[in-house]
Amino acid sequence: MPLSYKKVDSTVMNKMNKVQVLSIIHDRKTISRADIVKITGLTPPTVSRIVEQLINHDCLVKYTGVGDSNGGRPPVMVSFNGDENYVIEIDLGATLIRGVLSDLNNNMLMEMQVPTLLEKGYESIIDDVVNIVERLLNKRGLNRVKVLGVGIGIAGLVNLKKGMIDFSPDFGWEAVNIQNSLKQRINLPFFFDNSTRLMALGELNYGLGKNYGNFVVINMGYGIASGIVVDGKTVFGFQGKAGEFGHIIVDPNSNVKCKCGAYGCLEALASGRRIAVLGKELFERKKSQKLAKLCKNDPNLIDAKLIFEAARSGDKDANEILETVTNYLGIGIASLVNLLDPEVIFMGGGVSSNGDIFFEPLIKAIQKYLISRNRILDIKPVTFADYATLIGAFSLVVNKIIRFESLR
Ligand SMILES: [Zn+2]
Repeated sequence: MPLSYKKVDSTVMNKMNKVQVLSIIHDRKTISRADIVKITGLTPPTVSRIVEQLINHDCLVKYTGVGDSNGGRPPVMVSFNGDENYVIEIDLGATLIRGVLSDLNNNMLMEMQVPTLLEKGYESIIDDVVNIVERLLNKRGLNRVKVLGVGIGIAGLVNLKKGMIDFSPDFGWEAVNIQNSLKQRINLPFFFDNSTRLMALGELNYGLGKNYGNFVVINMGYGIASGIVVDGKTVFGFQGKAGEFGHIIVDPNSNVKCKCGAYGCLEALASGRRIAVLGKELFERKKSQKLAKLCKNDPNLIDAKLIFEAARSGDKDANEILETVTNYLGIGIASLVNLLDPEVIFMGGGVSSNGDIFFEPLIKAIQKYLISRNRILDIKPVTFADYATLIGAFSLVVNKIIRFESLR
């Protein structure tokens, strides 16, 4: 075997061993070196060497004294050094840019947000993202060496192969090279992904999703998107664009145009934005007095929340709007269930926080279109509500750190 092959092999092997040891320490929080030897099957000197590196070079592990002895020498305990390392998470949405500084134990230490100024365009929004990162660092007076990465969730078609956002109807962006834009401005390792896939990743690693290997997160707010987990892994597809649930066609004869350019997309017919439009039309037809009262006769104040409120107070027309919308959603979600057979569906986003008035007609509609008619479908809200994407962004960076893709 040529010498260079041998060298590559041993380097790869070392890294694999190191990743394995760090993952175990991360998952167990505190563990003895002897137990790491037992779990990994590595030799005691190899484990000692890796642990030394993780403590003195990478600063990701620390000694935490000695454990209980069962007769022999008390074991040396080590733990994940989560409170001396940091991660920054960004949720880049069409309404708000939110930023959070966390330690590696997933304790949120600081949070800030600015409105997304869509009219100012791409470059200005990227500047705002970088400004939030800097402000989080400065406010806490942190040495940037201690920040192991920035995770960013973006609403749009993220092409992970090219580091591009191919298309984002929410932002009106097409073919923007976000990898390059951030590289020029952020002096820290950074990683990004679609915001709803990150919701699914956060759910899988830190939320109720831990208990399931197969689930879908549906994000229903201004638009509609999904993050899919199959057999314990988030689904990316060929270029990283899997999960565009909002753009499946649920009515090919519809004359409602979607922001993507097609007609009859689920997002065009069933998002929070659509509920608001249907509410405004209802107001124009002067059909609902309850709605008129709720919006104080100003149609500009009609949003999805107000329609839910009108429906809750018994307004027949508002309830009809919800029935129309949940029927389209039912078609979409039943198709997902028929296709992927998930154990549970997690719903996130503003619209899904409306409780029974939303979920009851929705479950009925889904059941109508399921191939297994008697299947009981489990639908739950996402574990972290408004923080779902941010927890996912945290999870993205932690995964990279544990695999040593993020360390400088
Ligand atoms: Zn569409």
